[in-house]
Amino acid sequence: MFDLIIKNANIIDGTGLPSFTGDIAVEDGIIVHRGDDLGQAKSVIDAKGLSLVPGFIDSHTHYDAQLTWDPWANPSPKLGVTTIVIGNCGFTIAPCKAEHRELTIKNLTNVEGMSLDALRKGIVWNFETFPEYLDFLESRGVGPNVAAYVGHSSVRVYVMGKDALTRKATEFEILEMEKIVKESMISGGLGFATSTFEGHNGENGVPMPSRLADDKEMHNLIMAMSSFGRGVFMLTRGSNTSIDNIEKWMKDSNRPAIVAALLHNPLSDSSTFKILADISEATNRGTEMWGQVSCRPLSMEFTMESPYLFEGIHAWRPAMECATLELYKNIIEDSNFRSHLLNEIEDDAQVRLFNGDWDKIIVREVQNKKYLPLEGRSIKDIASESNVNPLEWLLDHSLNENGMDTLFIAMLLNSDEEAVGKLLKHPRSNITLSDAGAHLTFFNDAGYGLYMLQKWVRENDIMTIEEAIYNLTGKQADIYRIDQRGRLVPGQYADMMLINPDKAGVSQSYRVNDLPGGSSRLNIDGHGIYGVWINGQRVLEDNSIVNRESLPGKVIRGFHS
Ligand SMILES: [Zn+2]
Repeated sequence: MFDLIIKNANIIDGTGLPSFTGDIAVEDGIIVHRGDDLGQAKSVIDAKGLSLVPGFIDSHTHYDAQLTWDPWANPSPKLGVTTIVIGNCGFTIAPCKAEHRELTIKNLTNVEGMSLDALRKGIVWNFETFPEYLDFLESRGVGPNVAAYVGHSSVRVYVMGKDALTRKATEFEILEMEKIVKESMISGGLGFATSTFEGHNGENGVPMPSRLADDKEMHNLIMAMSSFGRGVFMLTRGSNTSIDNIEKWMKDSNRPAIVAALLHNPLSDSSTFKILADISEATNRGTEMWGQVSCRPLSMEFTMESPYLFEGIHAWRPAMECATLELYKNIIEDSNFRSHLLNEIEDDAQVRLFNGDWDKIIVREVQNKKYLPLEGRSIKDIASESNVNPLEWLLDHSLNENGMDTLFIAMLLNSDEEAVGKLLKHPRSNITLSDAGAHLTFFNDAGYGLYMLQKWVRENDIMTIEEAIYNLTGKQADIYRIDQRGRLVPGQYADMMLINPDKAGVSQSYRVNDLPGGSSRLNIDGHGIYGVWINGQRVLEDNSIVNRESLPGKVIRGFHS
């Protein structure tokens, strides 16, 4: 007698092959049979008219901090995600000495889009080293399966303290970092993750520590990662890091490199395709590389109190560095500051979030009723009406009464559907980039898997549902070397989802106030999803999490080469 049989399902098994009608039997959390008339089980589900697919493997999340207070990594499992990869971009919370906790939190607050208060109140510091962090998650339990990168910025702070934010590492410090990377890989790290991206800054605009690493540090830490013949290198690329640079860092490691974040920029149409072409060439020369692409338009909500979209702009730095709101107001009023900023924004497009597309920035919600007529209009539109430059209008508005509280939404990147469709179909693309767990005040793309089915399979028809599911499951397992997951075949863990393929999709995001200390974040709901199983345990029924107390996930510590 099996534990579970799901019968009469349209099985899309995560291999990319055509779907078929059949039954699947599960015992002790493992898929043990696939076919027809498999016998008896304690629980039998008739899935006629529904599709059974592998649970999504979300390979780009930032749940490192949240997992310490929320073992379920909400909202991912209710959106069909059964395995999450954490530590992306090198933003981790382990290793971390007690005296560096505040510094680590300050680094994270900006990139995670969580208030300092939420992180201070939320993070449970039951560990110091990376192995202890994994042990803590494992003994406490996790909802979804978790695979963790060793994060460069944390390793750097652990060895260099505050200096990690300001200078290159010495030979001795690099050696110390190598030891930590090795010890972390032995304990079950998925790989090593870092960032050289200019938009990655901590509190008051201090660069994330990994951005100060030189070529030698990068190469040596990648070699440390690869010492045991395993490990995936993950990098969020800044404008000065070429695919050529990465190829040199990877030399002799014989490991794959994953490059983020390849978002289509309408002002520099060809640049993302050029990177993917470079990635293909590097792969052909012998360094396996993948480009992380996103199926979601990148929209983010912001107020002028902390406008994330300007952070990649050099001339914005003085504003970011202000310690108080008063100083900040003085800076953004300054005409010199304004003209530098304007010049840089109008300068030709670079790898950065915002390139002067003012028609894409819309007033979403005003706090002061007198601004109500502005809601729903673009800054370009509003500014041209009063004959001022859009930047001047925006800065002036934020200095007006309650203007700092006006909520804007920016539709910045990845909104050209023809171009994004091409990115999604590129052979070196890895469809991911939910950034789930981070940027919580700007957007929530944790439902990108369901959105992929809704938008790109049903509406735009750029690929079959079998191909889309393969991209979100089996291909993820292959790229990240995750054993026994991502496919519905005997011998694999029963990470599964039952969906109505005609309805699977996501809602609009909406605001909730449930972070530690009551701070807000954006949330999102799934549609057309009937059940989710993690290691054979049902965790979602009728759109809500069931069996909340029993945590079925595993901390994944073994990966193939
Ligand atoms: Zn990220």
